[in-house]
Amino acid sequence: MASTTRNVDSLPILIVGAGPSGLVLALTLAQNGIPVRIIDKVPDPPKGQRGAGIMPRTLEIYEFLGVLPDILKVAFMLPPIAQYELPGGTKATKIFDMVTMYDPNPDRPYLRAITLGQEAVTRILRSHLAEYGYEVEFGVELLNFDQSPDMVTAHVLNTKDGNVEQGTIEARWMVGADGGKGIVRKQLGLKFLGESRAEDAQIVADVHITGLDRDHWHMWGDASTKMVTIRPTEKEGIFWSLSGGRQADCDKITSDPEAFRQFVRDVSGRTDFELGEFITLSTFKPNIRMVDKFGDGRVFVTGDAAHVHSPMGAQFNLGWKLALVYKSLAPASLLSTYTEERLPVVAQMLNKTTSLLDRTIAHAANKVELKPEDFQNEDKNPWVRGKIMFQLGINYRWSPVVLDEEADDERVVSVDEARLTAYGSAMGASEDRVHAGDRAPDAPFLVLLKPKPTDKSVGPGTKRLFDFLKPTHHTVLIFSGTVDGAVEILQELPPLVARSLVVLPTMTPVEKLVYKDTWESAHCVVKDSYGYAYKFYSVDPTKTKAVIVRPDGVVGAVVKGAEGVKRYFSLVFGTDSGN
Ligand SMILES: Cc1cc2nc3c(=O)[nH]c(=O)nc-3n(C[C@H](O)[C@H](O)[C@H](O)COP(=O)(O)OP(=O)(O)OC[C@H]3O[C@@H](n4cnc5c(N)ncnc54)[C@H](O)[C@@H]3O)c2cc1C
Repeated sequence: MASTTRNVDSLPILIVGAGPSGLVLALTLAQNGIPVRIIDKVPDPPKGQRGAGIMPRTLEIYEFLGVLPDILKVAFMLPPIAQYELPGGTKATKIFDMVTMYDPNPDRPYLRAITLGQEAVTRILRSHLAEYGYEVEFGVELLNFDQSPDMVTAHVLNTKDGNVEQGTIEARWMVGADGGKGIVRKQLGLKFLGESRAEDAQIVADVHITGLDRDHWHMWGDASTKMVTIRPTEKEGIFWSLSGGRQADCDKITSDPEAFRQFVRDVSGRTDFELGEFITLSTFKPNIRMVDKFGDGRVFVTGDAAHVHSPMGAQFNLGWKLALVYKSLAPASLLSTYTEERLPVVAQMLNKTTSLLDRTIAHAANKVELKPEDFQNEDKNPWVRGKIMFQLGINYRWSPVVLDEEADDERVVSVDEARLTAYGSAMGASEDRVHAGDRAPDAPFLVLLKPKPTDKSVGPGTKRLFDFLKPTHHTVLIFSGTVDGAVEILQELPPLVARSLVVLPTMTPVEKLVYKDTWESAHCVVKDSYGYAYKFYSVDPTKTKAVIVRPDGVVGAVVKGAEGVKRYFSLVFGTDSGN
């Protein structure tokens, strides 16, 4: 299609698919003031649990988006897995947590996974999107699309309200969040590299059950033969089952609810609980696949459309970049860093989830007996999800749009070497210090000095560092070892896209605290009352240092002064705004 000559600047960004990925992206863009349209081919929001396990990094992202309080109101902690002896099926031989519970740390506030069905998560995301005036257009299916250098034309089938009519939607960019079987990736011709594991098919069901307690994730049999697992959901009386095993004919069993009820009775040996009406009952065939790139031209893919299984994070990586380019504040080349940053992360994530699947099957097939002290040991028991799955170590240290001046004084790490550690270590990316490209750590007990706290909910003005991180701007943490150095940095900040947070050290003398004019141009000033921020960001309180946190909660730059700040922003914003 030929390039149009009319003004396309105000066209929306079209998101195809209103699952969690599409909704997180839509909300990020809406918060950035970008017009969006979000369509989904199904007439109504899908029901059921699906991706119900919410890992710590996703909790952090939900916090930055402002949806976490609503999620926490209805989510629940996954009960421990109880594996029962057969035959009989009532005596638990092993009880352990699928995700080990850790207590929070000052820099990592969420170290436990929570559970909430995708039906509830997407309802909450939709309600937040509605606050910005956007609603999902259900019953609108993308059929195909054309793209020109400056816009995308989506051809859709609208089946709302019983009508069936074809139409078009014009957009400046389009993002396919249309799931693993989506057509956006296919029409773009992106490769979907990896494998399908038909032999590891599983039965997934949301079902009413009476007579079964909600205190455990019940498990009978094993994955190498036949297996039934049933856990409670956030809804009283409704349970979720992931069942099957290599000797189970999953397609046949899911073709008839009664066949599944019988399968549960046969494998568990239990007749004291009853499966009633089904909300969902289907076969799930694991795919371990990822794209070779995350988009082409003006069309991108995200979520399951780009990689199955998926961690949250891709949408958050893309959202702020699209927002800046949309507003002509950054060059279009910023969008290519979406692929550059996410590809190594996803490759490693798939390796890890595949190895977990293989270990689970092998563990069962080899009839490995665990000692009680090893039930909770992630190295011995493959059902236990290790800390690495918290996704707190994911980093982009090799990215062309991060800048680390402290690395100049350290061992040179090649881009290839850095990519190999894209998943970081179990609890974070770094053993030594926070590098550019790492997740920004939290830090509590920041005493708010500017603006003067008026909100009673923060008590005497104590904040966490995460309170300042938002998907709408870069947050520039200025550790003001020297006042002059800090003031120079403040003068370098681009006005529309960065907010400054001056962090004064614990021992700041009173006269510096009240020296109001100095911090005239700072958005916020805090005192690091317990020294956590200085500690977690490895700051020498006698020196000036700036850490620039991107809108996705990732450290974009670690620099020693104003010159470094300037260099970072020219990396991201460039001089070319020709999008
Ligand atoms: C058994 C099982 C257990 C899982 N457990 C977890 C877990 O514990 N934690 C976790 O994080 N993940 C889990 N997952 C994965 C999780 O469900 C997916 O990663 C998640 O649903 C992906 O979200 P998404 O928004 O990318 O895609 P989807 O949720 O698949 O949404 C895609 C949407 O696009 C729409 N769509 C498709 N084509 C079109 C079109 N042409 N036009 C318009 N709309 C279209 C679809 O109707 C759908 O609503 C699990 C998955 C399975 C199967």
